[in-house]
Amino acid sequence: MDGSAARALLAAALLAACGGPSADDTLATALDESAALALAGVTILDPVNGASGPSTVVIQGDRILEVLAEASPALPERVRRIDGSGRFLIPGLWDLHTHLADADAAAPALLVTQGVTGVRDLGAKLDQIEALRDRIAAGELLGPRIVRTGPTLNGAQNGPHHRVIDSAESARQAVVELLAAGVDLLKTHNATGGEAYFALLEAAREADLAVVGHVPTTIEPTEACAAGQASIEHIATLFEGTYLSRFESELEAFQSMPAWLESDAPALVACFAEHQTLFVPTLRAYELRAERAAVWDQPDPRWRYLSADSYRQWRESAEPHEIDRRPDVIRLRHSLVGIGLDLVRMLHQAGAPIGTGTDLSSGGLLPGFDLHAEVRLLGRAGLPPRAALRAATRGPGVASGGDPLDGQIVGGAPADLVMLRADPFADLAALETIEGVVLRGEHLDRGALDRVLAELEGPHP
Ligand SMILES: [Zn+2]
Ligand SMILES: [Zn+2]
Repeated sequence: MDGSAARALLAAALLAACGGPSADDTLATALDESAALALAGVTILDPVNGASGPSTVVIQGDRILEVLAEASPALPERVRRIDGSGRFLIPGLWDLHTHLADADAAAPALLVTQGVTGVRDLGAKLDQIEALRDRIAAGELLGPRIVRTGPTLNGAQNGPHHRVIDSAESARQAVVELLAAGVDLLKTHNATGGEAYFALLEAAREADLAVVGHVPTTIEPTEACAAGQASIEHIATLFEGTYLSRFESELEAFQSMPAWLESDAPALVACFAEHQTLFVPTLRAYELRAERAAVWDQPDPRWRYLSADSYRQWRESAEPHEIDRRPDVIRLRHSLVGIGLDLVRMLHQAGAPIGTGTDLSSGGLLPGFDLHAEVRLLGRAGLPPRAALRAATRGPGVASGGDPLDGQIVGGAPADLVMLRADPFADLAALETIEGVVLRGEHLDRGALDRVLAELEGPHP
């Protein structure tokens, strides 16, 4: 049954329950055979469509069937009713930049406990990310919806899951093969040369696949935007290539960044707004880099939810060097985050889309928790809470394997939702008050989420 037929039948059932033919008659026809769920009396905070007072969200299968503007409507008896009164409902969060196949085995479940119901995976060995998706789809593993690029397309083999494209021909061939493999979008990286890059964009456009990722170092960021790269990742990618080449030293380049905000950023911002290029700054990753020594000296207690192996690896690989403790270096690293915050504010004011991503992999990022930190950083940049939540729930977009109704709480939208005890439109700190998560139509209440966390918890750090 399609969405509108289902809604019409539900409406009939609700009428019936209010005094028409007996509710029993309509039960069989109102909803299909699968279990249905109603979040009743909840305040809806839809970052796209706005807030609405106590309402009831009816869910069937993995979709929202209907949103009723009533706190306690009559419902067919077999609809399981969950009391949402005094609670706030937002769309599920998205981490738009992960490498989940390289992350801790606990990452998928941990993401869900923090309300992250979708990830855009930007670089993995295809068989590994497919295996993860399959296990999640089969219900063997609790985890988010995954849209994925598979291998990173780069001009050089700079990582284990990179696939080299060093000519127009090899770029076109990669698109053909990855399209056949069923990927949702394509990722490019720093070392891709101009010829391969533009051939990639053209072949991807013909195949209806978005190209996202870093700006290749020989390409101007505005050029990448104008050429149709759909999303640009990491604040640093704007400075690693053509910008850096203008200076004698990295230090000089760093010190000139505030001037860049006035000289170069306006044209870039205008281009992002015109082309609706998504910018995913991954600010938290850079903040953590600045805080490297501090976080190593005082490990976050939430490391206990990751495996002891991951923790040990991080202790060994992230031990700060002398340079990481130098106040001037720490200041410079923080200044990159500050430039990112200023740029994000300019993009928001110009109407360009911003997305939240963490670059979650095997490093020091904490699954889900650091996505919340990224949302708070957008707040610090000056985005009103509703705009920051829009960035955190928008999803990857239709051309990248997303659903057209991702990020909305309306009939037909994916039933991926987060229920909170406090109002995040008033204060983003409300993200720390998760009362329940709906994942593909399955409701996990606070007790269920706590049981997942208890199972993951180890004695470290
Ligand atoms: Zn990257
Ligand atoms: Zn990455």
